[in-house]
Amino acid sequence: MDKLTVIVLFVFLVFNSILGQEDYTSKRKQMVDAQIKARGIVDYKTLYALLNVPRHEFVPEEMKPYAYNDNPLPIGMGQTISQPYIVAFMTQSLQLKGKHRVLEIGTGSGYQAAVLGKIVDSVYTIEIVDELAQRAKETLARLEYTNVMVRSGDGYNGWPKKAPFDAIMVTAGAEYIPQPLIDQLKVGGRLIIPVGPHNRVRNLVLVTKKKNKIVKKNLMAVRFVPFTRDE
Ligand code: SAH
Repeated sequence: MDKLTVIVLFVFLVFNSILGQEDYTSKRKQMVDAQIKARGIVDYKTLYALLNVPRHEFVPEEMKPYAYNDNPLPIGMGQTISQPYIVAFMTQSLQLKGKHRVLEIGTGSGYQAAVLGKIVDSVYTIEIVDELAQRAKETLARLEYTNVMVRSGDGYNGWPKKAPFDAIMVTAGAEYIPQPLIDQLKVGGRLIIPVGPHNRVRNLVLVTKKKNKIVKKNLMAVRFVPFTRDE
């Protein structure tokens, strides 16, 4: 190749990559407008995070064109990344503050953890499928989410060394609420978890821990991949 061809090729590649990024940015803005704001999500921290976390970086290469669509997507190992609206709804319901420390069970792609990481001081997240945990760790490191800590393992028992948490989010459908997670919640803290019988539509339950009692509220019907246990 002569010099000119190399230069032309280089300029073409640079422009192409800039245009590609812009495309994702405008798709993301459209996603927030049409799927998130239009459905009543108002928390500005949640909107800011959804607008700024590059969702396409968290899905497999062949899913990138669909990353900003209004549905969940497969991420391998039989698991899924949740629909953007569900991510926003669950995030908003935790009423997060900048100084909070949050626990997530079910890292999956790492996308929800990154969204939380944009809002709070520190995020601890546990994934039972080791391959997914490793992949999420790499993605989060590459995108420099240095306040998100990923651990591979069964999240049923939470992360006792980092407890108590201001908020806990479980992103896999459970048959009941694991007691260790309630125990690791601060008084005044909030936990959100999809609960219901195996493989059926479950209820998104918001748990608020008061001084002497636990208050539970059903927020909406949802479908999630199941919460599994290590034997
Ligand atoms: N929050 C994820 C999507 C979660 S899908 C994202 O943003 O991409 C639910 C994940 O929970 C799956 O990856 C599944 O492997 C994981 N999971 C199921 N049971 C678990 C358990 N007991 N502990 C930790 N992770 C679990």
